[in-house]
Parts: sequence; structure tokens; C-alpha cells
Amino acid sequence: MKTAIKFFFTLAITLITQIGFCQNPIIRDFFTADPAPIVHNDIVYLYTSHDTASVESKNYEMKDWLVFSSTDMVNWEYQGAPISPKTFSWATGDAYAAHCTERDGKFYFYVSTFHKEDENSKGGAAIGVAVSDNPTGPFVDAIGKALVVNEMTTDNKHGWDDIDPAVFIDDDARLPDGQGQAYIYWGNGSLKWAKLKDNMIEMDGEINYLNPENFIEGPWVYKRNDLYYLLYASKGEKAEQIDYCIATSPEGPWEHKGVIMESVPNSFTVHPGVVTYKGNDYFFYHNGVLPTGGSYRRSICVDYMYYNEDGTIQKVIQTEEGVGAVE
Ligand code: CA
Repeated sequence: MKTAIKFFFTLAITLITQIGFCQNPIIRDFFTADPAPIVHNDIVYLYTSHDTASVESKNYEMKDWLVFSSTDMVNWEYQGAPISPKTFSWATGDAYAAHCTERDGKFYFYVSTFHKEDENSKGGAAIGVAVSDNPTGPFVDAIGKALVVNEMTTDNKHGWDDIDPAVFIDDDARLPDGQGQAYIYWGNGSLKWAKLKDNMIEMDGEINYLNPENFIEGPWVYKRNDLYYLLYASKGEKAEQIDYCIATSPEGPWEHKGVIMESVPNSFTVHPGVVTYKGNDYFFYHNGVLPTGGSYRRSICVDYMYYNEDGTIQKVIQTEEGVGAVE
């Protein structure tokens, strides 16, 4: 009986998707998580983690990072897996959340993965950066060593606090390209941030520590009008949800504004990614709703987000319909 129900459920999902009523999850040929969207030359590039754990598995198995693109927010074209921990000679283990950003015609791909035991680190989670001339890669290690190793941050006792990098480039127009100071934010258990040099592959100054209310991991920072936004995965009642803070500088102080998205179905984690595209504001996240999905077999979704006049964010409504096509 259960098999029959599952069969009809799968059939219904397939039919609904093909007819076009139901966009979420937007990626169905892979299990994907940790959305990191950017807009470049009028195309949305969506960088994702890739869940490859078996249905029975009780842990993450994440071997590489994937790229998808879209020009209408509905049809997503697979652009390959241009980067994995194997890209970094010092790395070993899983491909955790990543974030790609463009500066001066080059694409910088910040990853969280794990460090081999060597003269630079005793192991644990580490952050690397790869670079490419193309948003879809191929990417090569930009520095030949990790940007952040576990030993550089000591406020958390566990060995995987240096994960989930997110990079933000301010628009203070300090440079000829019109872009300004770059920042990197990351962390599990506490939020860490530092300035990046204009070359995007070196820290500029010390690492700073923050503890936003209910912070767990997965920061995402951006600017809208004159306000800076810090979104992150936070402690919900049973699973992660998304909280946010607002500031008038990317260095804070950050004012906690509350929850913008409740926990998602069938996944403990959730992870925010935001873009504005063709006049709409979009909120990317992941859940575990595809058949055989779950906390280790996640799927990326997108829904609209809306702002109030004072710049605060309205609660994001998770839908199966997703968003409409734009031209
Ligand atoms: Ca550390």
C-alpha cells in the first residue's frame, strides 16, 4: 500500500511539474542545498551544494559544487560541477556551503571544506577560495592554501566552526570598477567576519566575532537602498529557521529584527540566498520535500520576498508554486 501511495505521489509531482503549476523545488535532477545566487550580465547563476548521501545515510555526503543558470527564474539549466574539494590540494572531505562572487571580471568561489593534517592545520573545517574568468568555471585554487584554517578562530571548541563563507562587496565606489570594500562572513556557533583585500584572496586586518540572536550558521549579507542586511540560519523550535539583522554599515552594529522564514519541511538545516532580478526580490532556501529527500538529500526552492517601507523584510511564505517566469 505504502509503495502505491509513494508511486502516485511521485507521479502527481511529476505531472504537476511538467504541466507547470508547481515550481518548487526548482532543481529536481540532483539533490541540492545551500543556494548562493548571483546576477551577472542579466543571467542568474545559482551555485549549490550537492547532496549525494544514500536514502539510508545519517550523515552528509557532499562531493562537489554545482552551477545552474536561468534567465526567467523558472527554467534552470545545469552548467556542471566546476569545482570540488579536489580543486584544493590541501583539502579533504566534504564540499560544504559555498559562495561565488564577481569582482573586476573574475569570479571568486569561496568554499567550506575540510583541511588535511599538515604544517598549516591540524585539520577541521577550513575555507578556501578558487578563481575563474567565467561564472561557470573551471575554477582553480587562487592561493594554493586555505584562506581560513580552524586554528585561526578559537572561540568555538569544535573543529567545524569555520564553514559557510559569504562575501559582500560594498558599493562605496572606492575603486575604478565602482566596487568598494569586500568583506567575508562565515561561521557555525558564532559569526566571524573580516575585511578582504581588493585582490579578494587575502584577509585585510583582524577577524571579528559576533553573536547575533539565535545564530547557528549560514550567513548572507547584502545591501538594499541604504541598509545592510545580515540573514542567517537560526535556532528554531525543532529545526533551523532564518533570522535577520539590519545595520547602517557592513561592520555593524547589527540590530536583530526577527524571523523571516520558519523551518522548512523535512530538513533540519536551511540556508538563505537573496537576489534582485528583473525588478523582483527572490529568496532561495532548501528543504527536503522531493521523494526520498530529507536532511541529507535536500532541494533548493525559491519564493518571492517583500520589503516594508521602513526596509524591514516581510515573512517569506514557502510555496509549492514558487515564482512566475520573467522576461
Ligand atoms: Ca576554528
